This record gives sequence, structure tokens and C-alpha cells, in this order.
Amino acid sequence: METKSKGGDGVIYVENLNKQSLKDYIDQGEFEMYLQPQYSIVKNTIIGAEALTRWKHKDMYISPGEFIPVLERKNLISILDRYIWTCAFRLQEKKRREGQQIIPISINVSRSDFSHLDVYGVLTELSRTYCVPPEDIHLEITETAFVEDKQAIYTAVRDLKRLGFQILIDDFGSGYSALNTLKDIDADIVKLDMKFFDLNEKNSMRARDIIGAVIQMTQSLGMGIIAEGVENAEQLDILKEFGCDVIQGYFFYRPMNVSDFDMTMRRVLDTASRKNIDSRAFGEECLDESIRLLERGEYESALSLAKRALSQISVDFDGNLYCNMENIIGAIYTAMGNEMMGMEHYLTGLSVSLKVDNSAVSGKLYNNIGCVYQALGDPQQAIKYFLLAMEELKRPENKKEDLYEQRCFISNINLADEYFKLGAFEESEHYLNRAAELVDNSANEDYYLTYRAAQCKLYLQTGREDFVREIFPDVVDMAMNIRDWSEFWSYLEPVCDIALALNEMDEMKRIIQRMEQQADLYSVEQLGLEIRIRIHEKLLVYYENIGDSEKARQTEFEYFRLCKMQYQEMKKARVEAINYKIQLNLQHEENAKFKKQIDIDQLTGVGNRYKLEKDYKMIKGICSERKCPVGIGIIDLDNFKYINDTYGHLQGDWYLKTASRIIKEAVVNTGGVYRFGGDEFVVLLVDVQEDVIDQMATEIERKVEEECLLNQSAERKALTLSQGYVILDHIENTDVWQMIPYADEQLYAVKEHGKRGHRIKKL
Ligand code: C2E
Ligand code: CA
Ligand code: CA
Repeated sequence: METKSKGGDGVIYVENLNKQSLKDYIDQGEFEMYLQPQYSIVKNTIIGAEALTRWKHKDMYISPGEFIPVLERKNLISILDRYIWTCAFRLQEKKRREGQQIIPISINVSRSDFSHLDVYGVLTELSRTYCVPPEDIHLEITETAFVEDKQAIYTAVRDLKRLGFQILIDDFGSGYSALNTLKDIDADIVKLDMKFFDLNEKNSMRARDIIGAVIQMTQSLGMGIIAEGVENAEQLDILKEFGCDVIQGYFFYRPMNVSDFDMTMRRVLDTASRKNIDSRAFGEECLDESIRLLERGEYESALSLAKRALSQISVDFDGNLYCNMENIIGAIYTAMGNEMMGMEHYLTGLSVSLKVDNSAVSGKLYNNIGCVYQALGDPQQAIKYFLLAMEELKRPENKKEDLYEQRCFISNINLADEYFKLGAFEESEHYLNRAAELVDNSANEDYYLTYRAAQCKLYLQTGREDFVREIFPDVVDMAMNIRDWSEFWSYLEPVCDIALALNEMDEMKRIIQRMEQQADLYSVEQLGLEIRIRIHEKLLVYYENIGDSEKARQTEFEYFRLCKMQYQEMKKARVEAINYKIQLNLQHEENAKFKKQIDIDQLTGVGNRYKLEKDYKMIKGICSERKCPVGIGIIDLDNFKYINDTYGHLQGDWYLKTASRIIKEAVVNTGGVYRFGGDEFVVLLVDVQEDVIDQMATEIERKVEEECLLNQSAERKALTLSQGYVILDHIENTDVWQMIPYADEQLYAVKEHGKRGHRIKKL
């Protein structure tokens, strides 16, 4: 889309320009306004554009780098600028007329414009003539403009700003007066030019620090920042790391003519809105489906689906959906018996639901957290969360919800239960009575049993056995006829205890048999061991009570077998939970200490898997938009394990570091490098064809073999590599993990032929 200048050929025309010829060329349409989009990473869309001039003279494009300085020297620039400004205003007016979305256009204002034009007068006049509000035009003034003629420029800029034109300081950092300028001019945005920073030098860390400092400073002064001249992923990474959002550079878009710009805008707005609709619908669908899977006990699939959905949405994109997802993931983990993970997700969900003020979800989350404590046997904590759940439920917006009565009932029953456990029978009765008021309306007939069972339990403790005896036959009847058998344990278990307390041994037996019958319908994975163990507990108590010691012994034997199994399972879950906790803590620490290093592999300094996943998403977006091919490669260090084992880890580390450096240097302008496994690297390449990859792979091979010589006298051998690459012409809706196996196939083909070498395949 960008046009090419023919270098020095234009010099002669440029030098021959005079006032009249310039005016003539402008009239003949030789000067054209080009626009370079400014892209927001966070918003994922174009939020502005800079107007840049192109001169097409006698079939050749002369670069502004050639003619602008000459026009400035000859004091003619204001003639051209006035023309380009007019083009910008006219375009904004046209867009308004056609009802298109308007984004601000930045125009360049030269220092000499201030001495040859009434800048303030011209701009206000243009704004009036074309009915374009000043907000839609930004003014770029280079930093060095403020060095001379100070007062006049300051006054004009101040007045323009008052009218609503935003002021951008261009080429910030190029001059010597940078900080003074910031002090004296109340600018809105600073434009930081990446071309001023040489990141390939040895002192690139310093350059990075300076970039970071400038970004931080502008942020603390409340100014915006636009990074200009961003050409590669490395520069982009640095900017992102320091929180710089808006980018103007070839990496995203080159300057283009107005009709290309219109097309680009349309496409971007289109995909942005389509993407939003798509991912919301996708997220909601996944949510529903994972709830269904959870209810059916298919935890693994429920979890993987829910996690996929979560990866598609962000808190900013849809906080309500997000906290719902976290709630479901928490519920899945809890159902799988991993309370620790469940809790992590509940807590994340809670912080989001509170942030977006979604009290319905907050209520559910408080309740679920309470349930975790309930299961872990901590009534005090459980009560605390159940009460919080109740508070949320009471908010007016929740009263209209379908399941409002049911949820109130559950909260009250839960509270009654936990207070009972604490021996606080009065409180328990209080909540039980409130549950009683709701039970008729809660539309769930099984809840009536829950209520009655809780009532019996409490009454037995508080000397009202007669009443319990009276209603017991009814309670058993209800227990044998519940509707929701998937929850059989929670309904039947309390009734079983009541039977025992009343010494109704036949009824107790009947209930236990019903439990066993139901449990047999499920596999161990589906039901878990817990319920089976507890059924055996009941059975044991039963046999002991009726004095059948032989049966009691048998039951005990089976009971211990199950307990042992569960103990093993628990140990596994604990290890998992502890590992997770450690990983989480490490992550938090890292986050706090070096925010920038979170995506970086510590040993080699290249990206890690997490970054690979992130970058792939970004590259996918760029490549599908530009319709350019993507390359994915896997690079494996041959015999690395052997080297590591033979010469020690320090030596091994050195090879890894050296190889990763060489790979990084080879791909720097085309993509990124990631450590994938111990001795494997993945590379992502943008807009490359077979010849480029071939060249790159050969160079990597050569350099690694040159540098990584095994110096041990016993074997003087070079470290070799195997590499497999694939190229996709257009990238489909895949994630990186689906693409890697294709590159892996190529890698394996190389390995099969005795390692060392590379293969590239076009998919
Ligand atoms: P500038 O105002 O700093 O504009 C940005 C320049 O950086 C543009 O060069 C743009 O094409 C280039 N650029 C943007 N992204 C990248 C990138 O990733 N890599 C590289 N290498 N370059 C990038 P352009 O269009 O050649 O203009 C050069 C300069 O000429 C401008 O620098 C500006 O100072 C001046 N200029 C251009 N048009 C006008 C105009 O209408 N009026 C005035 N007064 N000056 C203009
Ligand atoms: Ca500029
Ligand atoms: Ca600039």
C-alpha cells in the first residue's frame, strides 16, 4: 500500500521548486494526502490517523524526507501545509456527511508555519468552513519548534488548545529540549519515535530503560503517548510491557491513500463488531453446555469447555459473562473434589462480579464458597459466606429472578444446618422457620423433604421426639419418592440418621438399600469415593446396632478398602493443589517483581509457552487481516539429553542459551522465538515464504554448529539441529496447539532421516 520513493532522483525537482511552481503542482493534484493509521492494542482497532504528504511528479514518488526540508528552508512549507490541512478537514466533513465513523486526523504543523501563516486564524477558519469540530483534528508540532520564537508559538498553541484542538508533540526525544518542552507546553499527547532507539546495539537495555522512563513520565503527567516507527515484534513487546497502547508504525499499517484507508477502516470496524458478537455468543454457548456437562457428571469435558470459553473473553469485554464462567469452573473443580482450585476460581469470580456489580452472581459465589467451607467442616466460615449470599440475594434486582424463592430457601436451610452444627439451636430454628415460609413457593417438591429432615434433626436435639415420630412415616415416604435422584445422597442421608435416632432399624435398612441401589448406577469416577464410603459407614452402624457381627466385619473390611483408596486419591489431589499453589505464588511474586518477565523463559530469555499462545493470537489477527502467510517451526537440539547428561547441566544451559540467541537473531524481523520444551524451540514467522525460511534455517544451523562445538577432547563434534516448518497461506480459526503437530510432523521426518537438517512444507 505504501509507495516507493526513487531516492535521489527527485532532488533536482525539489531544488527547482519555487512559490509559483509549488502552487501549480498543488493545483495539478501532484501532492496527495496519505494517511497512516494509529492502532490501539487494547481496543484492538484504529483510533486515529496521521496525514502525510506524497508528491507524485513525472511518474515518480518523491519522499517527504526530501521535499519537506527544502520547502522549510525556502519558507514554502506553509503553502503545502495549508493545502494538506484543507484535505484533512475536507475528508472529515465528507465522512460526517456520509455518516461514517469519524476518527481524529493528525496534521503536521511546521515551525515555519508559525512565522508565515496565521496558524490560529487558518485553522479556526477551516474548522468553520467545513463544520469540523476542533476535536476531530489533532496538531502535530515537532519538539524542536519550541526552541525559537518561543512566545509566539506558545501563545498560538495555547489558544488552539483552548478551542479544542489536541496538541501532539512530535518526534519526542529527538531534540535536546524534550523535558523543557513538556514543562512549558500543555500538550495532550507525546509521540515517541522508535527510530531514535537503536535496539540492536549492546546498550539496548539502556534504550529500553529510557523508553520505559519516558512512557512512565508522560503517564504520570496525564498525557497520552503514541509510539511511532514500530516495525517489529520486539519493539512492540517493549512498548506493551511499559503499557504503551497506541502504535503508529509499519508493523501494523503503512501510510496509504484515502481510498485504501477507507477500505481498511471498514474492514477493521467490521471484524471488530463481528468478533465481539462471535465471541460473546461462543462464550454463552460454552457456558450453557458446560453447565449441562457438569450436571451430567462429565467433569473433564465440562472443565475443558469452560476454560476454552474463558480464554475467549476478558473482564473488560464482558465482566458478567466472565464471573459466571469463573463460578462454573469453580463448581466443576469442587465437584471433582478439588476444593482448592474451586476456591481460587470462586474468588476470582467474586472479585469480578463485585467489580461489575452483578449481585446475582456475587450471591451465587458467596453461597458456593460457603458450601466449600461447609464440606470442609468449618461452620463459622460457612455461616459468614451464607449470610453474605443472603445479603446479595435481598437486593431488589434479584427478586425478579426465576429461582429467587428457591435460592432464598437454600440459603436459609444452609444457615440452619451450620448453626445446628455449632450447637446454636435457636439460630438454627430461626432460619429453619424462614425456610418453612418459602418451601411452598419454591416449586421444588424435593425441598419439602429437605426442610422436614432438618426439622426432625433439630427437634430430636431439642426434646421434641414425639413430633418427629409422628411425621416420620411421611418423611420416609417422601425420601423413597424423591424426584431428583442425582442428588440422592443429600436427600436420603439425613433421613437415614433420623431412622437410627428413632431406632427404626427396618426403615434404616430400607433407606440404605435404596442408597446402594442408586450408587451402583454410577461409575467410581462419576460418583466419587466419598459417597460410597459414607454409605458403608451407615451400613456398619446398622449391622452393629442389630448385632450382626459377621456382616459388620465384612462391611468394615470393605469400608477400609475404600478409605485407603480415597486416601491415595486425596494425596494426589493435595500434591496437585500444593503444586498449583506454589505455581500461583511464584507467579504473583514474579508479577510484582518483574512484570516484564512473566512471559519470558528465565534461562534463555526467549518467550515461553504462555507468550507463544498470546503472540499467536495477535499474529493470527494481523495475518488474517493482511491476508499474508504464517510460518510455524519447531527447532530441536539434536542429542541434547546426551550432552546434558555427559557434560553436565551448566554446559547444557550454555548450549541452550547460545542456540536461543542465534535463533532469535535470525528471526528478529519476521517473528518471535519461544522455548517450547527442554530442548525445543518454536518460532512464529509472519509473511514469509519457503525461500526465506530455508535461508533462515540454514543460517541457524550453520551458526549453531560453528559456535556450539563440543570441546571435550574425547569427541570433537558440533551440536546439530533438526527443524520442521509449515507455512499456512491463510490462518484459520485455530489455536497454536493445533498447528504445532504439523510442524512436528516435519521435524520427525528430519529425525527419521538421521537428524540434522530442516524440512518445510506448505499446508
Ligand atoms: P513524521 O511527522 O515523524 O511522520 C512519521 C514518518 O514516519 C512518516 O514518514 C511515516 O511514513 C514514517 N513511519 C511511520 N511508521 C514507520 C515505521 O514503522 N518505520 C519507518 N521507517 N518509518 C515509519 P514520511 O511520510 O516519509 O514523512 C517524513 C516526515 O516528513 C514526517 O515525519 C514529517 O515530519 C514530514 N511531513 C510529511 N508530510 C508532511 C506535511 O504534510 N507537512 C509537514 N509539515 N511535514 C510533513
Ligand atoms: Ca508527524
Ligand atoms: Ca514523528
